[in-house]
Amino acid sequence: MTDEAEAGLVKSEALLHADALIAEAVKALRALTYADYLRTQHWLDFRESMLAPLVKCQQCGSQDRREVHHLTYDYLGRERASDVRVLCRRCHGEWHDEHAGERLSTSANDLAWAGRVRRFGQL
Ligand SMILES: [Zn+2]
Ligand SMILES: [Zn+2]
Repeated sequence: MTDEAEAGLVKSEALLHADALIAEAVKALRALTYADYLRTQHWLDFRESMLAPLVKCQQCGSQDRREVHHLTYDYLGRERASDVRVLCRRCHGEWHDEHAGERLSTSANDLAWAGRVRRFGQL
């Protein structure tokens, strides 16, 4: 047994295969227009997983028409809870008014995606 295997650093074939499948799925999601992305089961499920426990706007506490807002687009297709905020419609609209035209993605790899996002409006 190698030192790496002993330390649990070597992934099994099955795990490597799972990683490859996830990478492929994320790539496919990012090839979509942003409008289409927002209609994918992936996004609808993730959105619901955020809206279910967070019943109040994380900005003002209102329970009125909550929406899920992206703080970053770097992990689109594989968002983490910390990548988004649950906002009421009013706070969400205000945030986008204040940040209109700002580039949210900081990753050079995501510039093409960010361009695509801007064309379809940020959400
Ligand atoms: Zn609010
Ligand atoms: Zn937003």
